[in-house]
Amino acid sequence: MIRVNRTPKPTILIDNEDTWLNNYLRADKKYSDNPNPANKKGKDTAERKYNHSEIKTALKTMFSDKCAYCESHIAHIDYGHIEHYKPKSRFKMECFNWDNLLLGCAICNSPKYKSDHFPGGAQHGPIVNPTEEDPSNFFSFEFDEKTGTANVIEKHPRGLTTKNLLGLNRPELVRHRSSIVKLMAYAAIKASNGDNDARIVILKCCKKEEEYSAFAIELCKHFNIK
Ligand SMILES: [Zn+2]
Repeated sequence: MIRVNRTPKPTILIDNEDTWLNNYLRADKKYSDNPNPANKKGKDTAERKYNHSEIKTALKTMFSDKCAYCESHIAHIDYGHIEHYKPKSRFKMECFNWDNLLLGCAICNSPKYKSDHFPGGAQHGPIVNPTEEDPSNFFSFEFDEKTGTANVIEKHPRGLTTKNLLGLNRPELVRHRSSIVKLMAYAAIKASNGDNDARIVILKCCKKEEEYSAFAIELCKHFNIK
C-alpha cells in the first residue's frame, strides 16, 4: 500500500451527487417503510448511481489501475471495484462522497475480507486510508531472503487490523508478490554494489504505477539507493 494523492472530483459527481444522495435516501426510506421487491429495486437503482463509468475511469487513473489496498494490478484480470472506504451499507451519507471512494480489487473487497467491515477505535481501527495517510507509518514492506517471501509487517495496531481485515498476507497474494519482489531485491543488491542498470530498474519499480512499489521503496531505503 502506498500513499496516493486524490485527484479532483469528476464532473459527473459535482453535477449530480446531491440529487443522487437525496434520491437514494428517499428510496432507502421507502424500502425500510415497505420492504417489497419493487421498493428494493428502487433503492438498488438509486444506490448504484455511484457506479458511473466516469467515476470508475477517474479512480482507475488516480490509482494507476492498481488496488488501493494490496497494490495489485487489476485491469488485465478484472474490471475493479469502486470501493467505499466507509462502507455504503453503514454510512449511507458517504455513498457518493468522492473522498470516500477508492479503487479496490475483487478480493480485498470481497465478503471474506473488507466487505462492509469498518472497525472503530476500540477494535484498533479504522483501516488505513491510503489517500489520507502514509501507509509506511503503519506497515513495513519486507522481503525475507531466507523464505523468499514478501510480507506486510505491521508497525502500529491499526496496521495489524488493516493487514488482517484485508488479507494483505493472504497466501495467493504473497506467492505472486514474492515472485516480483524477489527480482526487485536482486536488482537492489546489484545496485548497491554499483550496477547502474540495476539501479535504473529498482528506481523504476518505485514508481506509483508499478505493482507492489511499496516494497521497492523500502528496498531503496534499506540499501540507500537514490
Ligand atoms: Zn486488493
